[in-house]
Amino acid sequence: MQIQQALAWAKSQLASSDSAALDARVLLAFMLDTTQAWLLTWPDKMLSEAQFERFRQLIAQRAEGRPVAHITGYRDFWSLTLKVSPTTLIPRPDTEILVEQALMCLPAVDANVLDLGTGTGSVALAIASECASAQVTGVDIVADAVALAKDNARRNAISNATFLQSNWFDAVQGEQFSVIVSNPPYVETRSPYLSQGDVRFEPASALTSGHDGLDDIRKIICQARGFLNAEGWLLLEHGFDQGEAIQALMRNNKYEDIATICDLAGHPRVTLGRR
Ligand code: GLN
Repeated sequence: MQIQQALAWAKSQLASSDSAALDARVLLAFMLDTTQAWLLTWPDKMLSEAQFERFRQLIAQRAEGRPVAHITGYRDFWSLTLKVSPTTLIPRPDTEILVEQALMCLPAVDANVLDLGTGTGSVALAIASECASAQVTGVDIVADAVALAKDNARRNAISNATFLQSNWFDAVQGEQFSVIVSNPPYVETRSPYLSQGDVRFEPASALTSGHDGLDDIRKIICQARGFLNAEGWLLLEHGFDQGEAIQALMRNNKYEDIATICDLAGHPRVTLGRR
């Protein structure tokens, strides 16, 4: 079977995914250890029977709902290729907004950054990769996530990020940061969103936070002030309908210069404030 025929077949198998064509290309490129560009350049090349059979198995897993990143074990984020696992959240493109905003908040010298709930290390590593002079600390309560983030630092040859197991601020007592970032869990515990698509395969510890999704965000906003330099910034990713609530929490906790930034779909996604 030709590459283009295999892709068309796979797309039809994945009709229930809203990214069927992309999923098919990512999985075929993974199986052939090549790039999507190569597939598009050589649509007439033939797959061997063994190759098609292996591809068929990957597509069957995806058709059962398993996230593409769990099948391949990797996800690209920012300029990095990150290892992922079911122990933590798969990095999302929307979270690149958090990285962009954090980079704009970094002081010119002596930047030190704390990433709370670092997961794969995506946000911490993206910031560290862009700013070699910044010292970045990523913390996560899940030991396997910390190990994964350390592995991702090694694989991407990033030496200015360190990772610690910590329940929020517990392991950084007494430290002061110029920027604190977090993509914390923020989904409502009872949200119907949790029973659809890829999130079904991700841990609740990385997704949900109380009846309104704001339990952890309330804690972070309240406690972060004690860990920020005088002019330091707190930046939080949040749900599309949580911007106003988070601005109010920041105002009540005396943050200044509060602003909310939209994601690429135009939804409020990141709110920041200055101590
Ligand atoms: N943005 C994620 C999603 O839409 C939610 C992740 C989180 O709670 N931080 O699935």
